[in-house]
Amino acid sequence: MSAPGTDPFAAGTRSDPVIDAEVLVIGSGAGGATTAVVLAEAGVDVLVLEEGTWVDQGEVTPYSLDQMDHQYRSGGVTVAFGLPSVAYTEGRCAGGGTEVNSGLYRRPPVDVLERWRHDARIVDFDPDHLAGLADRVEADLSVGPVPGAPTAASEALRRGAERLGWIHDEIPRWMAYAPGANADEGVRQSMTRTYLPRAVAAGARLATGCRVDRIEMQGRRARRAWVTLDDGRRGCVRFRHVFVCGGAIQTPALLQRSGVRGNIGSNLAVHPTVKLAARFPEHINDPTEVPVHQVKEFAPDLSFGGSASNPGLVALALTDQWATFAPAVRDWERMSVYYAAITSEGRGSVRSIPGFRDPVVTYRLSGSDRELLRSGLARLALLALTAGADTVFPSFRGAPAVHDRADLADMNAAWSAARASVMTVHLCSTVPMGEDRATCGANSFGRVHGYRNLWVNDASLLPSAPGVNPQGTVMAFALRNAEIFLADEANGATRG
Ligand SMILES: Cc1cc2nc3c(=O)[nH]c(=O)nc-3n(C[C@H](O)[C@H](O)[C@H](O)COP(=O)(O)OP(=O)(O)OC[C@H]3O[C@@H](n4cnc5c(N)ncnc54)[C@H](O)[C@@H]3O)c2cc1C
Repeated sequence: MSAPGTDPFAAGTRSDPVIDAEVLVIGSGAGGATTAVVLAEAGVDVLVLEEGTWVDQGEVTPYSLDQMDHQYRSGGVTVAFGLPSVAYTEGRCAGGGTEVNSGLYRRPPVDVLERWRHDARIVDFDPDHLAGLADRVEADLSVGPVPGAPTAASEALRRGAERLGWIHDEIPRWMAYAPGANADEGVRQSMTRTYLPRAVAAGARLATGCRVDRIEMQGRRARRAWVTLDDGRRGCVRFRHVFVCGGAIQTPALLQRSGVRGNIGSNLAVHPTVKLAARFPEHINDPTEVPVHQVKEFAPDLSFGGSASNPGLVALALTDQWATFAPAVRDWERMSVYYAAITSEGRGSVRSIPGFRDPVVTYRLSGSDRELLRSGLARLALLALTAGADTVFPSFRGAPAVHDRADLADMNAAWSAARASVMTVHLCSTVPMGEDRATCGANSFGRVHGYRNLWVNDASLLPSAPGVNPQGTVMAFALRNAEIFLADEANGATRG
């Protein structure tokens, strides 16, 4: 499917045209596209509005600055304030984060699901049912191992873990490969390749370049959505139901702009991540691929993996200590960037400020988060050295270069979380689901507490960060909630 040509407001002649849809889905990422396909294939009249543009795969180079310009919010420069601040990125394009991410798939972890069911009081929830939905996602997205040998940077992770006796595995990806294709010839099965074309084929309307500014409420009902198009025109959509699927930052921001109160935006959960660049004696860098191995010896507290490592990203990993690390950038072909991600006790918040387009986001690491980041980076450095790295360049200001195990003590002594480049790409939990109204923003099926026809169906609903790559969990819940919505519609339970 190529870029959709539909301008939903084109037929209108008034300055503020009004159109109708049975169900409005706001956002076309993992949650929104999943919601749209389930509803559209059941015969519901669906309109999907996406703020970003449609970018065909291949139009921009993955992990490049060009991609950041076209497919990331604010060019990828977004930050949750704190000490240290946590840099985060969000996809902003048709398909949302699924277009720009690494495509590494994990199933929803059973122990996490059980904890969520119990702690958030998610009712009518069967983890086995969710596992069945995950099977469907895996089939629809061609989730599977990469064919052939992993990249050298991935193999280094595997080798280091093997030598240390640490648990590690290869993660499947949502990629489709022609028979006999190499690892770098896969086609990413993002939402523009899968659920969005299916939803459109089933009759859904999809419009890009349409930002929903505000949803107008009347008592317990959402009435209509006010939209600004890329060309500055405005429009209005009337609907029976609206699903907000803008991701864990934009969804609470939109709800707040719309006057929705309750547990909206106060429980941001992320996987904070620190990184290092490791230099090996041999050529290791593959600028277009990411490693597919992860090390789970210390899971769920700590996970190690590899990041995209084109020359610019290698340079970025060295900038914290540029004064002494700069010369190493010439060796980028022998370098790769690795990360340590933690399951964090900390929490953050999203607050929309009247008159400002973007919300203010904060994140506060706990004391044990800081300690976990320190030990994570030290163990990651050990892993890289054991894999054969000749030098490790940790990403924090004041870091020494690490050449052998003895240097790890210096690295630990120099460490300070406040001087580290902490970042995350996993954003969750800003409208957590469950029946506990004291802590949850939406009910067990995503309906916002206090409203009859206002739903959330994206990463915002996860009660906490899942401790694994989250897209599979986001999609399995989105399938579940959309199907329950359909069943309730059929028996009249959603009509208020
Ligand atoms: C760089 C990167 C790498 C990642 N790697 C992985 C990985 O390997 N594996 C994994 O499982 N997960 C990964 N993730 C996370 C994964 O992409 C997200 O968990 C997932 O996409 C979240 O889905 P979502 O529906 O909540 O939001 P998104 O997929 O972010 O979709 C939200 C969409 O809503 C649109 N939107 C927002 N507000 C509005 C509005 N007001 N009006 C109209 N449209 C709006 C946005 O433009 C966006 O397109 C990664 C994320 C990033 C950014």
